[in-house]
Amino acid sequence: MIKADCIIVGAGLSGLAASITLQRAGVTSLIIEAEAVVGGRVKTIKTPQGFLTDVGFQVLLSSYPELENFVQLSALNLKKFNSGALVFDDQNLKLLANPLAHPEALFSSFYADLMTTKDRALVLKLILSSQFHRSDDPLGQKSTATFLKDFGFSENFIELFWRPFLTGIFLDSELEIGEQFFKFLMRCFSTGKVSVPENGMVELPLQMAKLIPQENFLLNQKVKSYGSDYVILATGEKINAKRLICAFDPENAQPNLAENNFRMVTTHYFTGENLNETGWGKWLVLVPRRLGMGIDHFCLISSVSEKYGNGTPLLSVSVVGQKNVSVSKAMQELNKIAKRDLKLELVVSHSVPKALPRISNTTTGFKEIDGVIFCGDRWSSPSINGALRSGRLAAEFILKDQ
Ligand SMILES: Cc1cc2nc3c(=O)[nH]c(=O)nc-3n(C[C@H](O)[C@H](O)[C@H](O)COP(=O)(O)OP(=O)(O)OC[C@H]3O[C@@H](n4cnc5c(N)ncnc54)[C@H](O)[C@@H]3O)c2cc1C
Repeated sequence: MIKADCIIVGAGLSGLAASITLQRAGVTSLIIEAEAVVGGRVKTIKTPQGFLTDVGFQVLLSSYPELENFVQLSALNLKKFNSGALVFDDQNLKLLANPLAHPEALFSSFYADLMTTKDRALVLKLILSSQFHRSDDPLGQKSTATFLKDFGFSENFIELFWRPFLTGIFLDSELEIGEQFFKFLMRCFSTGKVSVPENGMVELPLQMAKLIPQENFLLNQKVKSYGSDYVILATGEKINAKRLICAFDPENAQPNLAENNFRMVTTHYFTGENLNETGWGKWLVLVPRRLGMGIDHFCLISSVSEKYGNGTPLLSVSVVGQKNVSVSKAMQELNKIAKRDLKLELVVSHSVPKALPRISNTTTGFKEIDGVIFCGDRWSSPSINGALRSGRLAAEFILKDQ
């Protein structure tokens, strides 16, 4: 084991970002991770049939500002979703495409009866005004739900587009998160691409880990307790260092609080011989909650990146929150939307009870408590950018003291 200046507990995105930042300043860190692999909540599992399944549907916005500090996007071989969404209205799928990215869809999106002329003008105004939001911190006191209403969007457009679209991102149908974070995301959506790495989301942390020498990782080792300059492993071994960064969520250690402290999602993966005939292609498909259905959104992920399907169609279907939606109900709903029997077969279901932290809208980027530095998305924003940013800020805080 290396003798490190700093111990980092957790090899999720925030821990990796902290380690890389310290390393660039000549400060060595030992990263202790409970699991056998790096990545934390950014995880991809390959099934025995060869399907790539992200543990919870997850996308990368190529314009997240923190990415340029830690990854070479070209090496991730990003595969892009279409820009916009298909929205189910209980009868048909309505295309709401970004006309700049898909001029061929101008007719259908322009005449989509989801939005009024005023809604269209407001989308433009929102995109223009969001260009000034360079950071996802602070999140903003006004909730996104209140902001959308006050901004003047019609109730129909909020319920048929904004709420289902943002429920998939925030994993919260109430859209409680502050409006500044929403505007920051709008800037990222409008200036970058919604994508997945060709070989699954896990490629992101794997690429970051390659920047750190292998001997700086201690995998498969759970930290049982810690102080400002030491950790004690579950094995009883004590390791000392000058500083400690906890790059995990301390609320995770309280299993009974999951419902209060985290937002949940379940993602089912299906294959089916008729899936490629649906026309869903690379679109995200939204199912508004107003319709009273179980599923929230889905996409034919094998259309976006063929590697996910390994030559076979693979559908990723998400149910947000604690809703109890059986696999057979999800299948029935998908057949209804497709207006055909898709002959679906379940590949795997991933339930993620602690997917995103429920956070206050006054985050500080990271936090020092009794000499221990905490970082991770709980202290920043519930996103890949937030986790990377938090790890970087925690490391920079330590570097100031050197
Ligand atoms: C289903 C899902 C969908 C998401 N969708 C998106 C999306 O589309 N876009 C987006 O930007 N973000 C999304 N996110 C959020 C993003 O993935 C997270 O914000 C980010 O990965 C959090 O990183 P982290 O380092 O803060 O925490 P984590 O990834 O949780 O890392 C913490 C690490 O610490 C380790 N650990 C914990 N306790 C100990 C211990 N005692 N000893 C040793 N190790 C320990 C854990 O094993 C873990 O590896 C999604 C997240 C999920 C789960």
